[in-house]
Amino acid sequence: MRPRKVIYPDKEGVIRYRKKPKVDGREVGGYSVTPERLIVISSTATEITQGEYLLHELLHQSLDPLAERDSDEDLEETIVRSMANTLVQVWKANPAVFSWLHHVLTAEEEK
Ligand SMILES: [Zn+2]
Repeated sequence: MRPRKVIYPDKEGVIRYRKKPKVDGREVGGYSVTPERLIVISSTATEITQGEYLLHELLHQSLDPLAERDSDEDLEETIVRSMANTLVQVWKANPAVFSWLHHVLTAEEEK
């Protein structure tokens, strides 16, 4: 089941799936609107690609909203693409690492 929401520290974000998401009239695989915590993903991409797009957009959302005002969009895209690609490759090659991270990060904190 595809996720429909993401809970951030500040608010709950929404994930929408659209046949042909567009930014400035150009078809894209996905995009995010940081202040609204909205992520839109192409619903026609393969499942694995949708996962990669979601990770990519989550990384965009992780950038400091204050820095966004003066951001260089090409630089941001390069950084996010690089981080997302690396994470996807590492995730595929090391599923046990992410299993362990899921386990430790979702465990109740010890008192
Ligand atoms: Zn991007």
